[in-house]
Amino acid sequence: ALPVVAIVGRPNVGKSTLFNRLIGERISIVEDTPGVTRDRIYGTTDWNGRSFHLIDTGGITLDGVDELQNLIRVQAELAIDEADVVIFVVDGREGLTVADRDVAGLLRRAGKRVVLAVNKLDHPHHFGAAYEFYELGFGEPIPISAEHGAGTGDLLDAVVSLL
Ligand code: GDP
Ligand code: MG
Repeated sequence: ALPVVAIVGRPNVGKSTLFNRLIGERISIVEDTPGVTRDRIYGTTDWNGRSFHLIDTGGITLDGVDELQNLIRVQAELAIDEADVVIFVVDGREGLTVADRDVAGLLRRAGKRVVLAVNKLDHPHHFGAAYEFYELGFGEPIPISAEHGAGTGDLLDAVVSLL
């Protein structure tokens, strides 16, 4: 069986945009409305001759009281369970949020290998915004732009090195 990589993070950070870029097709729905990805969406891709399954998940919110948010979170937790490596996506334009810290705690408890991707850094001169996320404790944050493709090679290098 191929190794499994799950894309996880709070809503609207660009998980589905990243999924589509890494898969090379528009399978997942990209929306300004948070929480559009309710189920786990699967694709397969490869990097440097290494193939793996990729899972897109809905955004994790731990403070959600409504049924839908709970369902979305359960799907994300199932994806984390399945995963050999997790790509934890945060929004470098908004900076570190309480919701990011919640997701970080969940990933730490799951004990998974994590690569931290700081998204929406569309220009190299924005890459410095990634440093703030060091304190999440998942090693070097990797600046990316899922929309434009910047940094995704470095991200995939880091992912494949952990498989
Ligand atoms: P998800 O909820 O985490 O799956 O986020 P989506 O992939 O649906 O994206 C949420 C919003 O962020 C959409 O409006 C995207 O166009 C936007 N977005 C995603 N990636 C980037 C990026 O690299 N740069 C910028 N500027 N916007 C992005
Ligand atoms: Mg999504």
